[in-house]
Amino acid sequence: MKRLTIKTKITLWFTALLAILLGVTYAVVLVANQQIIQKGIRDDLITVVTFNVDEVEYLTSLENTTDVDLYMSYGDGYLEIDDDFVTLVNEIYIALYESDGDLLYGQNPIASYTLDTPFTNNVIQTVKVNGTKYYVFDMKLTNRGLTDLWLRGVVSENQGGSTMSSLTYILLIALPLLMIGGIIGGYFIARRSLKPIEKVTESAKEIQEGNDLKKRIDVGKGKDEVHEMTDQFNEMLQRLDESFERERQFTMDISHELRTPISVILSQCELSLEDDQSKKEYKEALETIQRQGEKMSKMINDSLDSVRIELTPEKYPLEEVDLSTLIINACVGMQKLKDRGISLTYDIAPDIKINGNDSLLTRLVNNLVSNAYRYGKENGHIEVTLKEVDQSIVLEVKDDGIGISKEQQEKIFDRFYQVDSSRTNSGVGLGLSMVKDIMSFHNGKVEVESELDIGSTFICTFNK
Ligand code: ADP
Repeated sequence: MKRLTIKTKITLWFTALLAILLGVTYAVVLVANQQIIQKGIRDDLITVVTFNVDEVEYLTSLENTTDVDLYMSYGDGYLEIDDDFVTLVNEIYIALYESDGDLLYGQNPIASYTLDTPFTNNVIQTVKVNGTKYYVFDMKLTNRGLTDLWLRGVVSENQGGSTMSSLTYILLIALPLLMIGGIIGGYFIARRSLKPIEKVTESAKEIQEGNDLKKRIDVGKGKDEVHEMTDQFNEMLQRLDESFERERQFTMDISHELRTPISVILSQCELSLEDDQSKKEYKEALETIQRQGEKMSKMINDSLDSVRIELTPEKYPLEEVDLSTLIINACVGMQKLKDRGISLTYDIAPDIKINGNDSLLTRLVNNLVSNAYRYGKENGHIEVTLKEVDQSIVLEVKDDGIGISKEQQEKIFDRFYQVDSSRTNSGVGLGLSMVKDIMSFHNGKVEVESELDIGSTFICTFNK
């Protein structure tokens, strides 16, 4: 069976709900309406019969009579039936009876059926005639001189038929029309609301087919749930795109960087294999090959480390780290280098703790300090400080080395960027990019202040 779309499901659901509502409304309205109408009919019956009570009088003689009224002999005197006596009004029939059931005046359309209905004063009785219910209401006449006389009013339950049918008519026509309007309106609203979802599906298909992560889903302006979902979807695409872009860049960078040491190794091998060489020349060639091999190994290891921080941050759990002690330990270790007469001093505020990763933070300090040694001048000086400033913790590594020009300062944090690779044999241009990654992993940032030939200061700021 074909699966139902959300649109169809919503429409069907509302149709069913409206149909049930309509049915219940019909039932309630009709029952209520029926009861009100029936009560009205009974009240009218009572009113008309009661009205007639005073229209029948007993006269001892026929003196002073008028032409308009009706007279008939009754016991020793006469009965006067006023011309106001109503025999039929609004389908209500009234008749004057004697106690023994003789009809003296008026009308009763179901007279033959009410023969067995005893006169009962002031009570409404019901009689069924051919499936139709009739209300029968009797009143005993008690005016002066009157005995054994009854007024009987009769009316059918269908008296209000016309009122009933007009209401039924309105209900029958208007409510289904409203229901159809509701269903059509609901269908269009559902269709309109779900349109953006179709667009999302289309875009996802296009992205999949065209392999184009630059595409974004456009569902126009709006603030509903679908727009929110689309925003999230676009944000996800943006991140995916950036992440693929970074990966692509990384692969390009590393292949580019590996090309130089590989070509050095290959040319050394070629040269050595071409002619017989002296032992010294072979040794030199092998040393070059070894250096390039080490460089490649460092490059690969460092690259993998920087990728790991990004891709598997769970491998670097955060815990409370005593930053003061960590930096002092790193500095004490580095002091032992005594490289080219460069000295290292530190001024570390005690007991500064942050939520961080011990091994990454050690690496950060090592990278900065080893750069300060590497690019320091002979007999120069390195100063490491740690202090709290307002809401931040600031680590500074300052040297009086060769410095970095303004233009280069922007680029030194890029992966594999080296100002001048001939300045260092051991570096591969990943130290500072790692520092940057470690700082952003700790929600902090790194900046540099430097002047050529004067020295550089690397400033790492952690938010408290
Ligand atoms: P490298 O492996 O080349 O040291 P880094 O990423 O650590 O790579 O540094 C990038 C470049 O920034 C270096 O090639 C160097 O020219 C420059 N640099 C880094 N630290 C300093 C410093 N303290 N003084 C001067 N130049 C520096």
